[in-house]
Formats: sequence, structure tokens, C-alpha cells
Amino acid sequence: MYSKAEDMRRTVVVAEDEITNLLLLGGILSIEYNVLTAENGVQALKILKENAGRISLLLTDLIMPEMNGFDLIRTVKADPELEKIPIIVLTSSGDAKTEVECLRYGAVEFLPKPYGMPATILARVQRIIELSEDKSIIQATEKDLLTGLYTNGYFLEYALRLEEHHHERDYDALVLDIDRIKTLGDLYGEGKANRALQLAANEIIGYLADVHGIGSRFNQNTFYLLCEHQESYECLIQTIERSFSALDTDVRLSMRLGILPHIRNEEFSSDVMGQFMKAAAACSSLKAGGPSSIGFFDEKLQEQKRLKESLLKDFDQAIEQRQFVVFYQPKFSIEEKPSLRSAEALVRWIHPERGMISPGIFIPLLEQNGLIQKLDRYVWEEAAWQEAEWKKRYGISVPISVNVSRIDLYDPHLVQTLRSIVERFKLDFDEYLLEITESAYSSDMAQMLDVIGRLKGEGFRIEMDDFGSGYSSLTRLTDMPIDVIKLDMSFIRGLEKDVKKQDLVEIIIAMAKKFGNLVVAEGVELEEQFNILRGFGCDVAQGYYFSKPVPADEFGKFIEQKCMQEGRVC
Ligand code: C2E
Ligand code: CA
Ligand code: CA
Repeated sequence: MYSKAEDMRRTVVVAEDEITNLLLLGGILSIEYNVLTAENGVQALKILKENAGRISLLLTDLIMPEMNGFDLIRTVKADPELEKIPIIVLTSSGDAKTEVECLRYGAVEFLPKPYGMPATILARVQRIIELSEDKSIIQATEKDLLTGLYTNGYFLEYALRLEEHHHERDYDALVLDIDRIKTLGDLYGEGKANRALQLAANEIIGYLADVHGIGSRFNQNTFYLLCEHQESYECLIQTIERSFSALDTDVRLSMRLGILPHIRNEEFSSDVMGQFMKAAAACSSLKAGGPSSIGFFDEKLQEQKRLKESLLKDFDQAIEQRQFVVFYQPKFSIEEKPSLRSAEALVRWIHPERGMISPGIFIPLLEQNGLIQKLDRYVWEEAAWQEAEWKKRYGISVPISVNVSRIDLYDPHLVQTLRSIVERFKLDFDEYLLEITESAYSSDMAQMLDVIGRLKGEGFRIEMDDFGSGYSSLTRLTDMPIDVIKLDMSFIRGLEKDVKKQDLVEIIIAMAKKFGNLVVAEGVELEEQFNILRGFGCDVAQGYYFSKPVPADEFGKFIEQKCMQEGRVC
């Protein structure tokens, strides 16, 4: 039995067939270590196996009966359980050729016979053990135990060094995600999931050797790679996918690979992680769960993302500080002498730092983030107030139409909100129209019919905006209780040069009128377009031909002109 102190001592194995040598060396070593002795290779192997994981060092003679030292070294190095044990060869020959051969087999050191001073022997043994333990500590933290790829810290450090040593080379940073690993684990156990990661890692390691790269398992199912620029990474994805067939499961694992191509030396040196974050952004922009896909980092896309995030952050304050300003674009009746009919309220964001921002940028963003209702309510009130102001100031009414987002249609208080605005500013339903975009009609027909029916029931007049841009067809005209259709701009663009388009527009206008709808053409920019529309019996035109959207006070000039035309005193 070992004493407690002995328990904590390291254990070494000595294999030697000459008893005197064995006793001598065993005696010296036992000053510091637990010593297990064997008289030949077979015995030594048995002892090593029985104590696997506990042996700090093997010292072996070369010439022994049953199994010689060479075979013993070879066998130990080929055994995954034993391969890490450092080996010292006990030589008497001093033969360089034999020593080289031992080194090739995996021995690390020689101890010449006859043995020298015990202190020297102990010091050498101690150094070998310490070296080997340090190395295995390094290996354990340097490499991910499951996959053999580098761990994060080492990877980033080595990536930096690799890039620095090969400044002239063109490198790509890659982030690879394997999807559904968790599902695989849940269904078939963690072992299967780990196996999948190992299969992928094996392919990655093989691939990296060809493209002079290095890789890491960055977390659970994410790999970071750095390698020389490749035109395509399809083959990497395909080989990994093929390797998964060995898993024999129903779970279809797929991958998303995000790439930052042609990394820049300076950026890489100053912010290595930042470069991989860009590849990670490209990776997360890909759709998860579908078939495997590859995406490249796009600086513009990232800039847009940052802009969106910052606009969303600023939104509440912008409403409070009234940074949103409503512009008005006139609509004219299509006659020989066109006259002002009405106006469309179009919002702009006058941002204190970014200047004027177009609604094309922030409206979809607010729709996606559930903020559009707040803005629309603001615009609706502002437009209603403006309408009342103009009436008061000029004594005539210029109807205003406001835009109602398709998202607003899901607001249970919509009808009530709009009615209370109209009531508060004492407007007529003829003076305050609602533009609802056509795409809203196609998404949820029953919902639309219900809301529009209720708005109509209150007395509102509805304009179907962007007509012809979506999926809705002319048949919509029959089942939607709308008053006005606004032909989408795409019908007007190039109308003057496109006979087919002209035929189409003529038919749409005729049909709409047959169903009793007024027709407005928007995006009218040219006189020819205006004349063609006039020939087809279109009622109203809106577009740069007359005016861009303008601020409220500038719009006053259109009202004054109208007053003059009509011989009124405004
Ligand atoms: P929309 O309702 O179809 O508005 C017409 C757009 O076409 C406006 O762009 C207008 O400035 C532009 N436009 C007018 N005439 C011409 C022309 O002759 N040529 C060209 N190329 N364009 C013309 P804007 O003001 O940038 O608004 C874009 C979209 O933003 C609007 O499309 C509307 O869907 C939305 N929007 C604007 N204001 C509001 C709002 O207060 N609430 C909601 N929900 N959406 C709004
Ligand atoms: Ca509109
Ligand atoms: Ca429109």
C-alpha cells in the first residue's frame, strides 16, 4: 500500500532485463517517484495498460527478451491511451544511428549506461516529465478536445501571426455555422451531435491543409477559419455535407458560410476579431434551416443596417421634437386647363444630423418594427389640422389624402382613431381621403374587406394606392368597396413610348370607370403622358409634371392660383 505522500508522487515505469541495472536505476528513481519495474517489453506494456493515465514516464532498455525496446516504443506510440507518455531510452551503445531510430519512433531522451550520478539522473527525468506535462496542458487548451481544431484565443493569435508572416498573401475570413446540430443531439443523443462536429472538423482540417489555412471551433456549432482566398467554397460545403452521410440520421444538417473576402492587412492586425465579426454578420444574414448557403460580407448592407438601428433609436425623440414634417403634393384634374383638385400628404423626416430622410427609407423600417401607427397618427393629425387651416385661411377646401399603412389595418382602434380626427378638426369626409396601398388588399382579403367596409360605413372615401403593382387583378375592382384607384407609377413610366402599355392603361381606366371609380394617375412627369391619360379619360394626375411634394406654406401658392382661376378673393 502507498502512503498518502507516495500517492501524490508520480509513477514511472522501468523496463530492463538486466537485474542489476534494474535495481540500480529503480533505486535511484524511487527517491522521487513510484517505480514500477518490468523485465521485458510485454510486461512493461501490461503495466502501462493497467495503469493507463497514471504513468508519467517510461524508461526502457532496447535489447530485451519477448518484446524489445523498439517494438515497445512503437506499440506505446500507436496506442491512443498511452501515446502521450514520454519515453527515455536506456542505451549502452552510444550508437547515433540507433538513437536517431529511437527518436523517430517517439522517444524523447537517452540515458547512457552505466548510469551516472543519481542527482543528474533525477534532474533529467524531472525535466522530461515537466516538459511533457506542460506540453499536454498547452495542447489541451490550444486545441478543442472534440475536434482537434484550435480554441478561440489560440486561433485568433495564430491567425494574426499567419497573416503577419504572409503579408503578401490574399486571405479570406470565414465563419461556418452548422444548423440543426441541436436537433440531432435532442433526437439521437449528444454523441451523435459530437460525431457530426468531428466529421465536419475532419473535412475542415483536410481542406485547410490545401488552402494554407487554420481553423477553430469557436463555439458549439460555429467554426472560424482563415485561409488563402478562394474563388468558391462550394467544394468545402459539399465535402462536409457528404461526410454527414456517415451519421445515418433523418436530420438534414445544413451549413451557412459567411465570408469576408480579401481581408485587409491593417484592419486585420488592428482588429482581428472585428474581421471575423464581419464574416459572422454575413453568416447570420443567411437564412437558417434551409439548404446550405454561402454569403459574402457587404459593407453597404452593413451601413444600411447601422443606419436603420440608429433611426429606430432616434424615432421616439423625433416624434417628440416634431422632426417629422408633412409635405403636400398637388393633384390636378385632367382637363384642357387642369385645376387643383386635392393634395397628398407625404411625410419627411428632417433629422438634426442626417438632414432630410425620404419615407422610402424609414416607412418600411417603422412598419417592420411596429412603430408606423405612431407616425401615421401624427401625420393624420397634422394633415387634418392643415386642412382646417387652409379652409380657414383661403375659404376654400382642398381635400387631402393621407396614407394608411397596411399595418394600420390590423389596429382594432383604426376606425375610431380616424373618425375622432375628422370630428376634432370638423372636416367633411370629402375633405379627408384615405390611401390604402394595393398590397394590403392581397395579404388578408377578409380582414381588408372588414376594415374597409367599416371605414366606408363611417363615410370615409378610399383610394386604392399603387393599383396594378401587386397581385390584385382587375377583378378586385368588383369586390372592393373603393372610390378611387391610383394607377401605379410603373404604368406611367415610359407610357409615351410604349404602345402596349398604353393599351393596358386604356383598358384599366375604362374598367375602373365602368365600376364607378375615379382614376388618378401618379408619377406623371411629362406633357405627353398627361395628354395620353387625358385621351383615355383619366380623371386626376399627380406628379412632377405639376409639382414635387412641397412644404405646407409653399403649397399655399397652388391654392392661391386656384382662387384666382375661380375668380375668388382669397
Ligand atoms: P406613395 O404613396 O405611392 O407616394 C408617391 C411617391 O411618389 C412619393 O414618394 C412621391 O414623392 C413620389 N412621386 C410623386 N410624383 C412623382 C413623379 O412624378 N415621379 C417620381 N419618380 N416620383 C413621384 P415619397 O414621398 O418618397 O413617398 C414614398 C412612399 O412612402 C409613399 O408612396 C408612401 O407609400 C410612403 N409614405 C409617405 N408618407 C407616408 C405616411 O405618412 N404614412 C405612410 N404609411 N406611408 C407614407
Ligand atoms: Ca400614397
Ligand atoms: Ca402610390
